[in-house]
Amino acid sequence: MASSSVFDKNIQLIQNHSRTYSQQQYVYPVVSRRSRGISIGINISPTGLCNFHCVYCQVLGESRLEETQRQRANLPAIALDVLENELRQTLTASLNGELFRQGTFAQTPQAMRRVNDIALSGNGEPTLSPQFHQTVQVAAKVRKELNAADVKLVVITNATQLQRPEISAAMDLLFDNHGEVWAKLDAGTDAYYQKIDRCSVSFDTIINNITALAKRRPLVIQTMLLKLHGESISDKELRAYVERIQKICESGGKIQRIQLYTIARKTAEKYAEPLDNALLDAIAKRIRNETRLLTETFYGMEKSG
Ligand code: SF4
Repeated sequence: MASSSVFDKNIQLIQNHSRTYSQQQYVYPVVSRRSRGISIGINISPTGLCNFHCVYCQVLGESRLEETQRQRANLPAIALDVLENELRQTLTASLNGELFRQGTFAQTPQAMRRVNDIALSGNGEPTLSPQFHQTVQVAAKVRKELNAADVKLVVITNATQLQRPEISAAMDLLFDNHGEVWAKLDAGTDAYYQKIDRCSVSFDTIINNITALAKRRPLVIQTMLLKLHGESISDKELRAYVERIQKICESGGKIQRIQLYTIARKTAEKYAEPLDNALLDAIAKRIRNETRLLTETFYGMEKSG
């Protein structure tokens, strides 16, 4: 379970998930609660391309959702050579400690001055990028070159594209490089999924994709727990969610752990609000007891604005 003490004292630092660093285009380090250290993000969705429209989206914000739709047709190519150089410089500065002499990173608590991962995430869904596989290749190359064997390669995904052969091949490369897939599963029923994630890809596709990949390699499941119009997840929905997890495991899927988190920053919809710590803990306990899986909780913070 996440210890809140280190994080609570450094709320400003960890709330700062700015995708800009040192005027770089694609690569940005953050002090990450979920990584318990430095996570070096690669933003391969600079236009915010995503096929989910989560009510809780904390990267796009309300005003950018329509803009994102427009940008889909106009996806700029990633300059992979620029991305590679930025990653090399950022990883080097993070590993040799230079990062912690810069700006707000100087406030990073000692316990979090470690590089946990290189994360392909950013402002949208990374697997929608036509250059996803190439980006994994670049990340694997730089990680190897800098002898960063302990640094994981993480992909944070909404799981809608995992069935595509090119994505599957990219995931294999990722797993061969100390990789982890953090797959989003926010619901147990199609109705709740549509309420929260608002996506045209069917819920069955998401479940099938997660199950298929979990049968090949252990996955991390990421679940957002929140209040909608003041109401938290119902008992019925929670039961359905637990059953989904149990079914994935019963069919041979392996789940390393479940990350349960709530809202920490401004959301796309104002009616999406964080759960309080006690309720998040109680839900985590139930999920842990009923699935026998490891859970981690990440508390919310005051919504700003
Ligand atoms: S999947 Fe991520 S980027 Fe896409 S809408 Fe949801 S929170 Fe935002």
